[in-house]
Amino acid sequence: MQHADVIIAGAGPAGSTAALALARRGFSVLLLDKASFPRPKLCGGLLTWKSVRLLERLHGCTADGLVRDGVVDTVAGGFALHYNGRPLIRDRLAYPFHLVRRSRFDAFLLDRAQQAGAQVRHDHEIIRCSPEGTVRTKRDDFRGRYVIGADGVNSVVRKCFGLPRERWQRNLAAAIEITVPREAVPRIPDVPELHAGFLPTGYGWVFPNNDGMVLGICGLRRRSENFRDAFKNFLHHLGVADGEGFIRNHPLDGHPIPYGNALDNPAHGNVLLAGDAGGYADPLLGEGIFYALLTGFYAGEALADALEKGVHPAQAYSERIRRNVMPEMRGANRLRWLLFGLDMINPENLGRYFRVRGDALADMVHGVRSYDWGRKKQWDF
Ligand SMILES: Cc1cc2nc3c(=O)[nH]c(=O)nc-3n(C[C@H](O)[C@H](O)[C@H](O)COP(=O)(O)OP(=O)(O)OC[C@H]3O[C@@H](n4cnc5c(N)ncnc54)[C@H](O)[C@@H]3O)c2cc1C
Repeated sequence: MQHADVIIAGAGPAGSTAALALARRGFSVLLLDKASFPRPKLCGGLLTWKSVRLLERLHGCTADGLVRDGVVDTVAGGFALHYNGRPLIRDRLAYPFHLVRRSRFDAFLLDRAQQAGAQVRHDHEIIRCSPEGTVRTKRDDFRGRYVIGADGVNSVVRKCFGLPRERWQRNLAAAIEITVPREAVPRIPDVPELHAGFLPTGYGWVFPNNDGMVLGICGLRRRSENFRDAFKNFLHHLGVADGEGFIRNHPLDGHPIPYGNALDNPAHGNVLLAGDAGGYADPLLGEGIFYALLTGFYAGEALADALEKGVHPAQAYSERIRRNVMPEMRGANRLRWLLFGLDMINPENLGRYFRVRGDALADMVHGVRSYDWGRKKQWDF
């Protein structure tokens, strides 16, 4: 049995950020991941302004520095919204989007955690975790004074919480995404595009980056939608004539996104959940990278405080989540039902909403304003 102050399950953005926060404060940290890094991760890789600000705060770097170092792939100063293939809105943004390729981005975050002193074990798939802090992998057993479950949406660590599966499953979005060469689609956009109108509670995206085009769709499965057919329909909107042939040549990959299942209480025994494992992705766009960085940071800080002062971390961690994260989750959820309602009723209403409220919505997406009724947002990092 190997020991550490904190065992972290999963070395994605949540796990690496928690490890960084703990290692910087001098605690022994063991990060376990089933993959060997750099590893692929299905994701659009779109970072909002709040994510870039948090990265600056965590890593003492600037957005320009991230671009120069190749961590950020593309910077986009605008966006476009389409409805059933028809352009609805095209606008510039007060704050740009930054696009990353996840294999590179996650390797950068992990490297920073290692430089701070965190130990990493690749190829260690966790199969069980106890609330007391014992973690079993297919290869070895580990024991921590605390454990952070940052092992993604299908978290094995979360199973030790004994939560009902039904609510979790109901609020998962299905997602399909592929990255193709630019010339594979007839129309090459110069800004990230969102596509509404072909899924009742979801949307599609086209993110152009230096490596190619990222095409994806996500949404709730409400009426047993066939996501493969929905993707084919999306390709049709993009002007790809032979969707079936395209799919045969570019095999599809899918992965769920938490989409309304953020946990109010992410602590159980000596275990905290962070990132997708706790359901922290916003239920409007499915933005999860920011919340993985943020909750990983909160979890690391709560445990460092607890280890220093001999207090239990659950209250401090849950309180920070309730104060800063849950209002965003609830607000984004309200907005989702409003926007998808407008989308179903009439695309003209959706277009009108964007024309009148577009700037305020962009501020909410970027975290300048809160999804909670558009109030000014003060982040605590
Ligand atoms: C198709 C798609 C597109 C997306 N696009 C965006 C986007 O553009 N912008 C955005 O902000 N968010 C996006 N998201 C959401 C975002 O990818 C996630 O919210 C984010 O990756 C969560 O980070 P995490 O660290 O919590 O988990 P992950 O990034 O999933 O990392 C979890 C880690 O745990 C490891 N692991 C899992 N199980 C085990 C186990 N049993 N034992 C050991 N290790 C394990 C995995 O190998 C992985 O390295 C998208 C998601 C999908 C599916």
